[in-house]
Amino acid sequence: MIDPCSLEPSPLLSIDDALERIKSAIQLVMASERVVLKNSLGRVLAEDIFSPINIPYDRNSAMDGYALSSKDIDANQPFTLTLVGISWAGKPFQGSLQAGQCVRIFTGAVLPDETDSVVIQEQVSADGGNITFPATIAAYQNIRAAGEDIAQGGLLCPGQKKLSPADIGLLAAAGIYDVPVRRKLNIAVFSTGDELMGIGQQPQIGKIYDSNRYALAALLADPCHNAVDMGAIPDDRQLLEDTLKQAAECNDVIITTGGASVGDADYVKDILENCGKVNFWKIAIKPGKPLAFGKIGSCYFFGLPGNPVSVMVTYQQIVAPALKQLSGALANKPLRLLATCTTTLKKAPGRQEFQRGILTQNTDGNFFVASTGQQGSHILSSMSRSNCYIILSAECKGASSGEQVLVEPFSVHI
Ligand code: AMP
Ligand code: MG
Repeated sequence: MIDPCSLEPSPLLSIDDALERIKSAIQLVMASERVVLKNSLGRVLAEDIFSPINIPYDRNSAMDGYALSSKDIDANQPFTLTLVGISWAGKPFQGSLQAGQCVRIFTGAVLPDETDSVVIQEQVSADGGNITFPATIAAYQNIRAAGEDIAQGGLLCPGQKKLSPADIGLLAAAGIYDVPVRRKLNIAVFSTGDELMGIGQQPQIGKIYDSNRYALAALLADPCHNAVDMGAIPDDRQLLEDTLKQAAECNDVIITTGGASVGDADYVKDILENCGKVNFWKIAIKPGKPLAFGKIGSCYFFGLPGNPVSVMVTYQQIVAPALKQLSGALANKPLRLLATCTTTLKKAPGRQEFQRGILTQNTDGNFFVASTGQQGSHILSSMSRSNCYIILSAECKGASSGEQVLVEPFSVHI
């Protein structure tokens, strides 16, 4: 098996080098805005957020039971204390306790100052106002200290964090009403190709439905993105150039699909050279070799290949990290793990491949991966059936059943 890229006049850029070049070319969006907390899911925090209060705010009970002072505990024999009141969650006990006294307390209720221990209700016997505790109880149990989650002034969430449901809960626990986030990225998307038709049209010989725009819109669905669908543009050089220039004026990023290769109707790279700057074109990745990255004015440009699987692979491996960086978010890497291959994987040395796989885990926790079968960059069903990429290095010559291979799950649910 021979990879066509071995016939290229000069060696292709490796994916790592391409990512490095993008990283150094991109300047993150600095502008920020305030959004109310409930609209902040998935947005990128523009600065560190510190807690204005202790969380928990008060020392409180972790259980339903009785609050007492450890000074009253008799370690040698059961002992009885006098019940003098109740501390409810939201309605603290108002009085103060003397030696030999205790209060009924519920989960989340404030501990009276004189107490330092809570004994769960299952351990005591109550006889009217007399509560008898066993000798075996431990002091200082079942108490939540004020500030033990986050102390007043402590860091709640660092800047650059893409806010998760847990972050939003934590910020709410601190009473934070709104947060500063980076502004959304304006992203224009269009497909190119004379053969494209919309999904409302009747099938016709020589035409194909424009699936890339739908897949890309779905990939771009992210609270940090304002993605605008600019439709499908025919293979008309002037029209393409005009559309690109116009889109570059009011967007941070343009993503196109198709027309990035070397065919007679592939104008994307030429236009980019003409009205912008090409940073690179063609990388040693399969699928997805013809990928143009550059700038038109101040707008970043990604010219993705036309084949639908190449679009998804190059978006996820190259464009997505770039958008994340641009949006001001921390660049964390996707989870990759080793799995035992259960099918033969064909590959020619030359390019790093992202084959589509089905990852499973047995009851012992071991991972196995099978190929989805046909790996052509037009076989979109292989992408749809897969739940991971099988990542094969540029030098790799394929893998046989039983070999360990690197996989990148699409989600943590397998
Ligand atoms: P190109 O890169 O323009 O030469 O396109 C490569 C292949 O991808 C061709 O078979 C195209 O028909 C196909 N293709 C291009 N654009 C799309 C699209 N938007 N949706 C589905 N397939 C496409
Ligand atoms: Mg085309």
